[in-house]
Amino acid sequence: MSRDRKDTSAADILSVKGLKKYFPIQKGFLRRVVGYTKAVDGVDFSIKKGETLGMVGESGSGKTTVGRCIVRVYEPTEGSIRFHANGKMIDLLELKGQERQGMRKKIQMLFQDPFSSLNPRMNIMDIITEPLVIHKIGNKEEQRERGKFLLDMVGLSADHMNMYPHQFSGGQRQRIGIARALSLNPELIICDEPVSALDVSIQAQVLNLLADLQKELNLSYLFIAHDLSVVEYISDRIVVIYLGRIMEIAYSDVLYTEPRHPYTEALLASISKYEAGSSRRYILEGYIPDPSNPPAGCVFHTRCRYVKEQCRHENPLLEAHQEGAFVACHRFLELSLSGYDAH
Ligand code: SF4
Repeated sequence: MSRDRKDTSAADILSVKGLKKYFPIQKGFLRRVVGYTKAVDGVDFSIKKGETLGMVGESGSGKTTVGRCIVRVYEPTEGSIRFHANGKMIDLLELKGQERQGMRKKIQMLFQDPFSSLNPRMNIMDIITEPLVIHKIGNKEEQRERGKFLLDMVGLSADHMNMYPHQFSGGQRQRIGIARALSLNPELIICDEPVSALDVSIQAQVLNLLADLQKELNLSYLFIAHDLSVVEYISDRIVVIYLGRIMEIAYSDVLYTEPRHPYTEALLASISKYEAGSSRRYILEGYIPDPSNPPAGCVFHTRCRYVKEQCRHENPLLEAHQEGAFVACHRFLELSLSGYDAH
């Protein structure tokens, strides 16, 4: 079940344009650059205030690299990443020194594996308040008070504050990760597969917590996932990404019922419950191609069951086909694709 649509007139909090991230491939004793892995190859999207934008694609699609470029773990090769602050859009890639540091507080990252992202030698209070210490916010007493408040906010208690990460379950550890991400009062959180490592029953609890916190704090999320089963519940709109390029963007309710891109159809088929032996099932065959040597034309053509000659040499542009919806496929007007089948 997808969410009710949010106010579509809300202002953008993030606007990404022409984002590229190429990693050099080096060879030999002199580490000569012999090519580039095009992890992200010209991506445009925006996130509105209070919105969750899901970003979905298989492993190797470039979705995590997009998230890491936004928090500047990776320096983008090209493009702009603009963030709404002090009444205007500021290009994050042009910020340096203090300004860059200041902006870091507003965008936080939540990681997939809560265990490896928490320092095992620090107790929970120290983990949660470390960002306050790094940014020199408040005195020791104020930091502890903030730590207790955050523990309560994520459904843990002050009794937990002297315990260590290994003493918690996976779901509790992700709650600790969320508390830490919230410590600096961010406006945007990049959630990089935050529930993928958790049991299905625990996933729902963490997703509910994220949804509640969003309402309470008017947070915006970029929610990265490798399949469409998790993002449906939490996302307002979804971006489908393949080999570093956007294949489709749509509101969640539209994307699940009326996909316009064959790759979206394939991702939906992989989570649909078809009867055994049903011919309607569309299995996505093969693997995502090597991003250092992407196919010519439509990058999805080597796996697409609707491929025609034009697709092999002409790259389809991302075109608007209805309000808020975009697709990159030569055949989107003529194809009638299957949506999610829950039965
Ligand atoms: Fe398939 Fe062609 Fe559309 Fe690419 S452009 S998704 S190969 S039909």
